[in-house]
Amino acid sequence: MPAALGPKGLVILDRDGVINRDSRDFVKSAEEWLPLPGSIEAIARLSKAGFTVAVASNQSGLARGLFDRRALRSMHRKLRRLVAACGGRVDRIEVCPHGPDDGCHCRKPAPGLYERLGRHYATPLAGTPAIGDSLRDLEAAAAAGATPILVRTGNGRRTEASLPPALRDVAVFDDLEAAVAALTPS
Ligand SMILES: [Mg+2]
Ligand SMILES: [Zn+2]
Repeated sequence: MPAALGPKGLVILDRDGVINRDSRDFVKSAEEWLPLPGSIEAIARLSKAGFTVAVASNQSGLARGLFDRRALRSMHRKLRRLVAACGGRVDRIEVCPHGPDDGCHCRKPAPGLYERLGRHYATPLAGTPAIGDSLRDLEAAAAAGATPILVRTGNGRRTEASLPPALRDVAVFDDLEAAVAALTPS
């Protein structure tokens, strides 16, 4: 049985650089996992507006041995706890644990994580907003048939400055809060 979707459907978020501060040295523990200003409230706003919120995240730090599954679970417990405290919910988190040379189908820019979410909810991804800060998020979203949206947090400004022609028309927002405001007009 596919999982139930909210009345407004699915929103897919990248994690690092969209929800929490990214780090060149990888985010390796719950202590290092620090939300960006307004991001937790923005996720709660999506939930309250009737969206189901899912996260799709490359975590090659697992393949690189920089942290383990247990540390990743504790980061995600922190995320879910903070969002729940604001009255929202992160329904599903899909992670690619592989490295860049593993040739997997889930590491973005491959569309595997998004496709898995589409299967989990038995929903076509056409029209599903997929919010990211890196080019590979946008490329994966486009490859999966979702609607890529760029935020300027994390790598976002650099991404915006070097968008390939095929992605020139993506919507760009300052941060998750602004992107969510556009999806949930009051
Ligand atoms: Mg990112
Ligand atoms: Zn993978």
